[in-house]
Amino acid sequence: MNIKRFWSKLLIAWLTLTLGLGLLAGCGSPVNSSVDEGALPDGRLSVYASFYTMYDFAVKIGGDQVSVTNMVPAGTEPHDWEPAASDMIGLEKAAVFIYNGAGMEHWAETILGSLQNKELLVVEASKGLPLLHGSLGEEEETAAGREDETEGVDPHVWLSPAVSALCMIADTVDPHVWLSPLNAKAEMENIKNAFVRADPEHAADYEANYARYAAELEALDQEFRETLAALTHREVIVAHQAFGYLCAAYGLKQIPIDGLSPDSEPDPARVAEIIDFAKEHEVKVIFFEELVSPKVAAMIASAVGARTDQLNPLEGLSDEERAAGADYFSVMRQNMEALKAALE
Ligand SMILES: [Zn+2]
Repeated sequence: MNIKRFWSKLLIAWLTLTLGLGLLAGCGSPVNSSVDEGALPDGRLSVYASFYTMYDFAVKIGGDQVSVTNMVPAGTEPHDWEPAASDMIGLEKAAVFIYNGAGMEHWAETILGSLQNKELLVVEASKGLPLLHGSLGEEEETAAGREDETEGVDPHVWLSPAVSALCMIADTVDPHVWLSPLNAKAEMENIKNAFVRADPEHAADYEANYARYAAELEALDQEFRETLAALTHREVIVAHQAFGYLCAAYGLKQIPIDGLSPDSEPDPARVAEIIDFAKEHEVKVIFFEELVSPKVAAMIASAVGARTDQLNPLEGLSDEERAAGADYFSVMRQNMEALKAALE
């Protein structure tokens, strides 16, 4: 994955140079000079969101006053996604760019540093939230030997020791803050504040939308508390280490088969440990997610006589889910029901 990132950074640098030259060449054109940066012809704010949840929050807070582009296509897992040239062109004309931060969008800093669009208002939605670190859990760390930390060491030390140290830290931070409803409320507030700044004329609309969804998120938090409080079991085995904030908020214990990014292969010793743990704690369900292969979860489930089910990290919805009207709230309630059935 690190080698992939290295090449992707080279690609981004190349795109930046090419686009930069293209924009410079276009500066003399009278057509370009008449474009009002960030405002669409119908007056709405042009907003770019780095993946589905950021998109959903932006649509909820922005309402009719914004036009939001979800940069990651439906059905695509966002951890290893990279922006294309068309995304760069869109960002050069956008008014607001919303990303989660906390290491979720490894491409964001490179892109932001290279854009010519000096008017772009950048929102790091997770800003101000306390962050958790990726971990294999207190009881499970021993045999697997703190894999999460060694995994984060960037082999490209020759590029720059300082940069490599930063990569290591970034890879161990758990970015999935949005999966706790109260964190989602804080992210929506950051997005609301940005819209008010970018478009003060419609501040009252953004404030009203935020007030409505903040209340809904508080209600959702209360539902989670009431639903999960009385359950017998607290151990949640997940394929992708995305539910740390959700588990921390409601006193559950996440046992990840795999790391913070869902595409790496778990090692056999780790799988054997999980199987022992699941047997010992009579775990009934091994969770996986839609955008990633259920192979390892299914193998563990069959070894311990458990079943598999889905927990959705809201990193991307399929076209079918979108067409059926799914959103943050409906998916979080599905997650709540799945947890309840697994832990009863
Ligand atoms: Zn994730």
